Amino acid sequence: MKKRPGLNTVCTHAGELKDEQFKGAVSPLYMATSYAFEDVEVKRYPRYFNTPNQEALAIKLAALEHTENALIFGSGMAAVSTALLAFLGKGDHVVLQQTLYGGTHNLIMEEFDKFGIAYSFTSGWDENAFAKEIRENTKVIYVETPSNPLLTITDLKMIAGLAKKHGLISMIDNTFASPVNQNPSDLGIDIIIHSATKYLGGHSDILAGAVCASNEHIKQVFSLAKNLGGNLSDYTVWLLERSIKTLGVRVKAHNRNARRIAKYLKKHEAVETVYYPGLKDHPGYEIARAQMNGFGGMMSFELKEGLDTSAFLKALKLIKPSMSLAGVESTILYPSKTSHALLTPEERKSQGISDRLLRFSVGIEDRKDIIADIEQAVLAAGKMTVTA
Ligand SMILES: *Cc1c(COP(=O)(O)O)cnc(C)c1O
Repeated sequence: MKKRPGLNTVCTHAGELKDEQFKGAVSPLYMATSYAFEDVEVKRYPRYFNTPNQEALAIKLAALEHTENALIFGSGMAAVSTALLAFLGKGDHVVLQQTLYGGTHNLIMEEFDKFGIAYSFTSGWDENAFAKEIRENTKVIYVETPSNPLLTITDLKMIAGLAKKHGLISMIDNTFASPVNQNPSDLGIDIIIHSATKYLGGHSDILAGAVCASNEHIKQVFSLAKNLGGNLSDYTVWLLERSIKTLGVRVKAHNRNARRIAKYLKKHEAVETVYYPGLKDHPGYEIARAQMNGFGGMMSFELKEGLDTSAFLKALKLIKPSMSLAGVESTILYPSKTSHALLTPEERKSQGISDRLLRFSVGIEDRKDIIADIEQAVLAAGKMTVTA
């Protein structure tokens, strides 16, 4: 096999465009929406996903995910919806992992009936839970690992094997891991989807998505994508290329901080539970260790009963409350009050989301400062309860 350049070399250079005219150090940005059609090999147009900058970034993403090809989308949901609908039509069925990103869940619940696509959510994460949902008309298995918000782990080799056995397309939302921590195509998964809004962008200022797969599969995704029109504008493509240059460095910093902070929280007397796949008592630890290169920057935890979770959140100074995740800055989300607020406490409980659960996106700040912020907020959480 041809030896790949190292991760950070791929991040920095793969796909880059040469500035032949001025010899600048970075890819030139081509904003044209109009290209000649005579005497050219390729008919270029932004909605055909084939402008110079789109193609350059696709090469970088494919190199990062060890796939033949990639397409860059205007959002993570544009990537998710186009990938799913490219392989599913009227009368087809898809097997979906139990807990999925909220937007993906909404797409399925609110739109799939309209397209005549049937679906089943699994009741668990093991092979039997997936196998028993497969029907004669099943075409796709769709998973997300680590999942949101409880960081559950699905065995990707098992999923790939099951898909091959039944002639299905396997798809993963690889957003939480990023290509630095997990390369599902090496494990036999067909379609790899990213919300590039998260680690790929990494600075909480870009909305984008990506699908990485073989040439053949990308061809099928493209044939729908050009009709739906979910491409990313070239300016943002160019910014995303810049962001990804530091992806390897950033994600490794997230990994290091998160692993140490998970251990710190685990020992903390104010903390009830920590959900982090890098902790040995996490139910997915062994699988995560086998299929991931790092455990990522995402975790969830609960403060002990009697402590005031809202007061804890209000007292945080460095760690920002945020609906999104995976920026260089540490952010925290209160699912029962935000992303999962529309569910009843019983429904949340059935998904394992307690009313005290906090989802923590560990940033790359100095660890001692993150920990100091948690320490002072824990004190506030205790005080509020006593005086209340
Ligand atoms: C954010 C996110 C998405 C959706 O991405 P957008 O860029 O917001 O459209 C999909 N999957 C996961 C796991 C996410 O975190």
